[in-house]
Amino acid sequence: MITADQILVKQINKSLVLNYIRKKEHISRADIAKKTGLNRSTVSALVDELITEGLIVEKGIGTSKGGRKPVILAINKNGGSIIGVDLGVNYILTVLTDLLGKIIWEKRIPIDPQDPPEKNIDLLINMIGKAKENAPDTLKGILGIGIGVPGIVNYEKGLVLMAPNLKWENVNLKDIIEEKLNIPVFIDNEANTGAIGEKWFGLGKKATNFVYVSAGIGVGTGIIINDELYRGSSGLAGEMGHMTIDMNGKPCSCDNTGCWEEYASEKALFKYLRDQVSRYTSDSDINRENIDTLTIFDIVDAAKAGDDLAVSAFRLVGKHLGIGVAGIINTFNPDLVIIGNTISLAGDIVMQEITEEVSKRSFITKYSEVTIAPSHLNMHACAMGAVTLVMSRVFASPNI
Ligand SMILES: [Zn+2]
Repeated sequence: MITADQILVKQINKSLVLNYIRKKEHISRADIAKKTGLNRSTVSALVDELITEGLIVEKGIGTSKGGRKPVILAINKNGGSIIGVDLGVNYILTVLTDLLGKIIWEKRIPIDPQDPPEKNIDLLINMIGKAKENAPDTLKGILGIGIGVPGIVNYEKGLVLMAPNLKWENVNLKDIIEEKLNIPVFIDNEANTGAIGEKWFGLGKKATNFVYVSAGIGVGTGIIINDELYRGSSGLAGEMGHMTIDMNGKPCSCDNTGCWEEYASEKALFKYLRDQVSRYTSDSDINRENIDTLTIFDIVDAAKAGDDLAVSAFRLVGKHLGIGVAGIINTFNPDLVIIGNTISLAGDIVMQEITEEVSKRSFITKYSEVTIAPSHLNMHACAMGAVTLVMSRVFASPNI
């Protein structure tokens, strides 16, 4: 008789083998046995099962170090597809990937955060439907849908507790979408998904301790400690955007005043620009007439083209970001801080300010080296992290 313990051990071993193949990309049965310490017959049996299930494939012959040439194994990118959604405050970015996380289709649409949740959920379901239509024929079909949400969530229940910038409260997002589409749904906070996206696919791959700062309409942080996402006791950790940096400061959508995100986000950038264009005239392409029609991407382009007003706006927001990043470095002593989301698109203009502010304010940096870098995944970090929410389940439980 097979006991529950034996099933669990087999499950763990199978996941171990699958993850080795994922991380090493091309590896032989013998290499896996050597690296995992499992015996060769166990590895062979597990590999056979994974091939039958369509999760891995044999991919040619490797070079021999004496003896028979090894068969190289790889993840079967066509084993199934995954849908990842970045539910922004004013947009929805949906991606469809293969099992290696390669994007095969994507679409971004604007949404109005003032609209009721029902309307934006309909748009979200519609976008997922479009991703489904574009999915290729695979053995396992769509394995799941991951969604990064700009707010605090109960990730186990898939419940959005509160998304202040979207004005959502207690939205049972997982149940609503699963009922409509009959595909497993996993949700998490957008900065958390950004951090896991970076861990699996971005700059965070090689870092053990790092913090991902999502600086968009708001500011959120995803904290990776010892290669794992730090969630806190109720899964709500990382709301550093709502850390008070001015006790007498501006009111925030979270009901506190003087929160970091009020000074270091798109909200702060546009507030500064509106203030400037209403008071002064300048040579800038940004003016009183067009300020309400410009997107953050227009301001990024203007800054990159050397528009003085756009540059000064990003410098100010970068300086404010740096103040919070210094606090993060003093708190966590990370190897790496990744700056992501729209504000990071201004590149060196914001990065220089952040670095300068950190060197002024964080004494930790005199004793410990820390890299501060813009995300390479850029606007895909959250959506790719949402893909990872699904992928991590597939790779942890290969029988899904
Ligand atoms: Zn706040």
